[in-house]
Amino acid sequence: MRTVIYPGSFDPLTNGHLDIIQRAAKLFDRVIVAVASNEAKNPLFTLEERVSLGEQTVSSMQNVEVDSFDGLLIDYVNRMNGDAIIRGLRAISDFEFEFQLALMNRKLDERIETIFMMPKDTYTFLSSRIVKEIARLGGDVRQFVPECVEAALKERHQAN
Ligand code: ADP
Repeated sequence: MRTVIYPGSFDPLTNGHLDIIQRAAKLFDRVIVAVASNEAKNPLFTLEERVSLGEQTVSSMQNVEVDSFDGLLIDYVNRMNGDAIIRGLRAISDFEFEFQLALMNRKLDERIETIFMMPKDTYTFLSSRIVKEIARLGGDVRQFVPECVEAALKERHQAN
């Protein structure tokens, strides 16, 4: 049984994240989407909201689950008996930071591999940050995020 952890802030989950989850689910027996609490990043959605949006998005995928974690990723991966970490690579701009993170995680635990996956080309420009910005300015984000996320963004901005 091979388990992979896909960590991130997922603030909120986009179709780019979903594309990576679908690819990972074909390669691994079990995929755990691990939402980092990341309070320091001042997220738009609370940890519980980010987990719930993730759960609604992957509800029909048999081997995918959503969890949250705090603290060191490597400790979490070990606790969940994970074999590898998945990260998404959109463009060269992601590479340097991701490379550094992967090598640091390897220093912390040699056993755990980091695997990079590339999304469908149409998602390479997508980021949670840009989606939030478009939604904040009243733009249509339907083609970029799952339906539940679109609704949550709408509600958030109507409330403000
Ligand atoms: P973090 O704050 O850890 O970067 P994110 O939620 O922004 O969390 O991203 C989690 C992972 O998903 C990262 O590896 C990021 O590069 C990747 N990712 C984000 N958006 C996309 C996308 N559109 N296509 C593919 N991978 C993506």
